[in-house]
Amino acid sequence: MNHKILPADPKAGYLAAQAEIDEAIRRVMLSGHYILGPELEGFEKEFSTWLGTTATVGVANGTDALELALRAAGIGPGDKVVTVANTVTATVSAIGASGAKAVFVDIEPTTMLMDLDALEGFLIKMRDPRIKAVIPVHLYGQSVDMPRLMQLAEQHRLIVIEDSAQAHGSTVGGRKTGTWGHLAAFSFYPTKNLGAFGDAGAVTGSDPALLDQVRLLRQYGWRKRYVSDLPGRNSRLDEIQSAILRVRLVRLDAENVRRDELAGFYLEALGKFPLRLPVVAAGRTHCWHQFVLRTPRRDELKTHLEKRNILCGVLYPIPVHRQPAYHDAALSLPQTEEACAQVLSLPLHPGLTNEDVARVARDVESFFEQGRDGSNSPAK
Ligand SMILES: *Cc1c(COP(=O)(O)O)cnc(C)c1O
Repeated sequence: MNHKILPADPKAGYLAAQAEIDEAIRRVMLSGHYILGPELEGFEKEFSTWLGTTATVGVANGTDALELALRAAGIGPGDKVVTVANTVTATVSAIGASGAKAVFVDIEPTTMLMDLDALEGFLIKMRDPRIKAVIPVHLYGQSVDMPRLMQLAEQHRLIVIEDSAQAHGSTVGGRKTGTWGHLAAFSFYPTKNLGAFGDAGAVTGSDPALLDQVRLLRQYGWRKRYVSDLPGRNSRLDEIQSAILRVRLVRLDAENVRRDELAGFYLEALGKFPLRLPVVAAGRTHCWHQFVLRTPRRDELKTHLEKRNILCGVLYPIPVHRQPAYHDAALSLPQTEEACAQVLSLPLHPGLTNEDVARVARDVESFFEQGRDGSNSPAK
């Protein structure tokens, strides 16, 4: 049996920088300083420089980053926040945690990102003053059309919080995602393009007042120790994860280049099959957090590849408005529902070799060949 090809491989990320990561962990352990110290400060500065923004506030995870960004912007009970339903539930649970209510618009079928015509139509039709914010999700590593979204947001006086958890390094109009909205939220979950080896997240932005609120909210609302100015909570990013992220940030651009090469290979190799391959919109760059193709035969193809030791992801099998905790029988989002039934993420991460992706492409080919001659060749 061929070796297993994983959809993502955080351990390969460790092995690629093992000596430096071990040294970073040792440095923190020997420093005696484990929470809100120099490693976090260093990471916040370095991430801001890499992103091209004013400031970064490290928090415990990406879900908290979204929630604290909403709360910092004054979004809370009684407010509504527009987003999409083909996202990790985290986007929606963060809106709920802020006290606001999530409302959904459909997606545009080629990019599978928020349909801004649908958003505009929705805002005009609803004329609902409780709609206060919008969370565009830069799904799979491609940016939403931020220039147009920011224009719409200005017209309708909406706060924009970018969900950049899958978009470390993608751009639109030459400008990185996470620098467009009033604030942006990043996750450094281990499988993201920039991953910690535990939970981690950050809020980024350029408005000092908003960032100051996030900083207060992440630690009990303290400006001064033991004096809470706000009803904050605990969402701190620890020193060990910060030190690890500093090591991994240095490699991020090169790793994104490698992801782009691998995605280019897939696009080239898979063009001849009856699949819908990912589309990169004009004026945007994709950081290939996921390489997502579409086929009505998704489950069959996934099983075919699994039998050949190639594991794929499905992001996401059930849209949020069809999940038990958020079920809304009255809501229909046809494009979102169709996408969730068809999407398949091929393995894509910097630890893959050219031979690995060639093997994936060959087994996609064997799937379609098997269908063509009616035979059912056994798994190797
Ligand atoms: C990963 C992710 C999150 C949540 O991040 P956590 O660090 O797991 O809390 C939010 N939104 C999107 C789109 C994500 O991919």
